[in-house]
Amino acid sequence: MNDPFIIKNREQRINALVDSIQTKLKFMIGKDPIIATQHDWLNAISYAIRDLTVDRWLRAIRRSLSQSDRAVAYLSMEYLIGRTLSNTLLNLGMYDDVAGALKKMGFELNAILEEEDDPGLGNGGLGRLAACFLDSLATLKIPSVGFGIRYEYGMFQQNIIDGQQVESTDRWLQYGNAWEFPRYNLSYKVRFAGRLQQEGKVTRWIETEEVLARAYDQIVMGYGCDATNTLRLWSAHATNEMNISKFNQGEYSAAFEDKNFSENVSRVLYPNDSTESGKILRLGQEYFLVSATLQNILDVHYRVHGTLHNLADKIAIHLNDTHPVLAIPELMRLLIDEHEYTWEAAWQMSEKIFSYTNHTLMSEALERWSVELLGRLLPRHLQIIFEINDHFLTKIKQRYPNNPELLTRLSLIDESHGRYVRMAWLAVVGSYRVNGVSQLHSELMTQEIFADFAKIFPKRFCNITNGITPRRWLALCNKPLASLIDETIGEHWREDLTLLSRLQQRTDFPLFIERLKTCKLENKVALASYIANHLNIIVDPHALFDVQIKRIHEYKRQLLNILQVIGRYHRMLRLPEKNWVPRVVIFSGKAASSYVNAKMIIRLINDVAQVINHDARIKNRLKVIFIPNYSVSLAELIIPATDLSEQISLAGTEASGTGNMKFALNGALTIGTLDGANIEIREHVGEENIFIFGHTAKQVEALRAQGYDPRKIYQEHEDLHDVLNSLVSGVFSPNDPNRYYALYDSLINFGDYYQLLADYHSYVQAQDAVDKLYQTPNLWAQKTLCNIANMGYFSSDRTIKEYVEKIWDMKPNP
Ligand SMILES: *Cc1c(COP(=O)(O)O)cnc(C)c1O
Repeated sequence: MNDPFIIKNREQRINALVDSIQTKLKFMIGKDPIIATQHDWLNAISYAIRDLTVDRWLRAIRRSLSQSDRAVAYLSMEYLIGRTLSNTLLNLGMYDDVAGALKKMGFELNAILEEEDDPGLGNGGLGRLAACFLDSLATLKIPSVGFGIRYEYGMFQQNIIDGQQVESTDRWLQYGNAWEFPRYNLSYKVRFAGRLQQEGKVTRWIETEEVLARAYDQIVMGYGCDATNTLRLWSAHATNEMNISKFNQGEYSAAFEDKNFSENVSRVLYPNDSTESGKILRLGQEYFLVSATLQNILDVHYRVHGTLHNLADKIAIHLNDTHPVLAIPELMRLLIDEHEYTWEAAWQMSEKIFSYTNHTLMSEALERWSVELLGRLLPRHLQIIFEINDHFLTKIKQRYPNNPELLTRLSLIDESHGRYVRMAWLAVVGSYRVNGVSQLHSELMTQEIFADFAKIFPKRFCNITNGITPRRWLALCNKPLASLIDETIGEHWREDLTLLSRLQQRTDFPLFIERLKTCKLENKVALASYIANHLNIIVDPHALFDVQIKRIHEYKRQLLNILQVIGRYHRMLRLPEKNWVPRVVIFSGKAASSYVNAKMIIRLINDVAQVINHDARIKNRLKVIFIPNYSVSLAELIIPATDLSEQISLAGTEASGTGNMKFALNGALTIGTLDGANIEIREHVGEENIFIFGHTAKQVEALRAQGYDPRKIYQEHEDLHDVLNSLVSGVFSPNDPNRYYALYDSLINFGDYYQLLADYHSYVQAQDAVDKLYQTPNLWAQKTLCNIANMGYFSSDRTIKEYVEKIWDMKPNP
C-alpha cells in the first residue's frame, strides 16, 4: 500500500487508508463487507494502522541492538495499557485522516474505537504505572523491553446486581488481538518442582515438570516518529500437547491433563490488589515470567556479544514491586548451573543488574512465601536464596558482632511464625538501587520497613516520584482541553509538559476562563450521557461532579466518602430550603473477589444511592452514582468530566497515587489528605488551590500510639452519631437492617483501623469549603487552571528521565 505518511494530499491519503482497510477486511479477516460486524471493521482498521508502525518498530529494534549503552528490561506482572488503536492514531498524528476515511466508508470513528476491549492485564495503579512507563520509554527513545504475562483472562468484569459486585470472566482475547505478533519460534522451557541432586560441587535440578513460554510481542507506540518499543508477553503452553498413548486408549480428558495444567500458568490475572494471596499458582506465574525473561535476555546477549561477562554493562533489569524478584535467584542459577560461573562472579554481576521499586509499606501487602512451598515448587531457587542469605548475614555479623536481634530482623527468612521468605528483603539485598514512588513514601520506607537496610546501605535508597503520560491522560482523553491548550501555547506540551506553566498567566483572561469552563461542561455532558444510557439515571451537567474512582480498598477510604454523603443527606433533610450546591457523587472501582469488607462498601454505596436518588425531598440536588466495571477507558471518560477529585486515603498508606495526577492535569480540584503524591501536588499547584484536610502521617502514628478511641468521637459528635446510627437502623437496607452492622462495629468497637472518625470532621469542613468556592464559578475555574498549569512535573517523561539518571545509569538521550 502507498504509505499515507508520505502522501501530501489529504484526499489521496484518505483514499489510501480506505483502500488499505478494505484490503485488510478481505485478506486478513476474510469477510464480505456486507456481513462484516463492527468488530471485524475494528480489526481491519487495527491491522491497517499496525502496518504503518512496523517499519518504525523494526528500525528502533535494530538501533537498540547496535547501541553501546545499556538497555532496560522492565519486569512487571501487570500492564494496564488500555485501548491501543486510539492511542496509536494519536501518536501517529492520524486521528483526523482515519476519521475521514471511515466517514467516507459510512462509519463513525468514535463508535469503532469503543468496540475495542480494554486488555485487563493489570489490577490498578501498579499496572497503569507500568503502561505509562512504556509510553515514556518509547517517546524518549530509551532502548527497553517491557516483559510480562499474556493472561488469557484479564481481571474479572464487574457487574452490579442488586447493589452487589458480581464477577464474570474477562475474555479480552475472544475476538482476537490485532496488535500482537505471536512468536511461534521464540519459546523457552520453564521448569518447576523436581528435586536436587548434588554431584560434587555441582547441583543438578532434575525430574522437573516443564512448561513452554511462548513470546507474544506488541508494538508500543510512543509519541512521534520512530518512537516505538516492545511489550513482550509470555504465554504458557504444554511441552507435551497430548499424551498419545492415553488418547489411543480412549482416555480423552486424561490425554490433555498435562496441557491443561501447563496452560493454567498464564490463564488468569490474580485480582488481588494490595493484599498478599499466597497461592501456589501465583508463585508459578511469577517464576514463569522471570525464567522466560532471563533466558531470553541471556540468549540475545550471548548472540550479540559472544560472552556473558559484560552483561551488567549492557542491561539493567528493573523489578516492578517484588512480584518478579525471583529474577535474582534465577539469574544466579542460570549463571552458575548453566554457564559455569562461580558464586562470587555471578553475584558480582547480579549486584550490578537489578533495581527494585517498592510500592507499599502496608505489612499485609508485603509478599512472603512459605519456605515449604517454595522448596516444593522451586527447590534450587530456595537453596540459592538460603545461600544469598548466608553470604549477606555473614557480612553483617562481621560489621555488627553481638547483635543477634539485628540479624533476625535482616534475615531473608522470617522465622517468627513458621518460616517464610521475605521477598522485599530479597529485592533489597539483590538490587543496587531501591526506590519509593513519592517523597513521603520514600521517606517512610527508609524509616519503617527498610530502616535497618537504610543504615547498612545508605546509598541504595532513593525516591522517584511517579508520573503519568500526558499523551493518554490529556491529549487523548480530553480533546476539548487539548485543543484549547494547543491554540494557546502550541502543541509541544505533549513532549514537554512543563510548557503548561505558560498557561498560568491566562488566569486573568476572562475569555480564556470562559473557554476553560466550556471545555469542562462539554466533558460533563458526555459523562452525563453515558450515565443516562448505561445506568438510566439523569444527572445535571451543571452540578458539581465529585468523583472517587480507584480500587475499592479500606485504606483508600471510600467508606469515609459515603459516610460524608449520608451526613450531607441528613443536613439537606434538616434544612431543605438552604441553597445547597447540587452535587453528583460518582464512585467506580473493583473490589478483590475475596475482600469481604470492600465488597460491603460497594453494596453500601449502591444502597445509599437507591435511597438518596429516589428521595423527592432532595429535589435532585444530590445524586450518588456507582459506575460498574472501572477500567482505563472509563477513567478516560470520567476524569476530564470531574470537578472534584477525592484522594482521601489515610495519611501514610497510599504510596503515591497516580489517579490524583490525572485529575489535576484535567482541571479538577483535589480534596485530599497529606498522603503520597498529594503532598507534592500541593507544593506544585499551591496550597490555596487544593483542599487539604485530616491528620498527617505523623499524627496518624501518634494517635495510634497513644490509644485512639473512635467511640469517643462517635459519642461527642451528633452528626456523625446520626450518620452511623442510620447504618445500623436499616435506613439503607430496610429488608435487611443488620446488613451494615459489621461495618459499624469495625468503626466503633474494633478500633477504626483507618481512622475514618478521626478525620471525619475536618473532611466535612473541607467539603463545605468546596461548596462555597463552587458558588463562584470563575474563581473555581481559575484555580483549576492553576492546577493544570503546574502539573508539568508529574509527566512520566520526567519520572523516566530520573530512572535513567538515578537508577539505570544510562546516558540520557541527546
Ligand atoms: C490511574 C488508574 C489507577 C490508579 O488510581 P489511584 O487513584 O492512584 O489508585 C487505577 N486504575 C485505573 C484504571 C487507572 O487508570
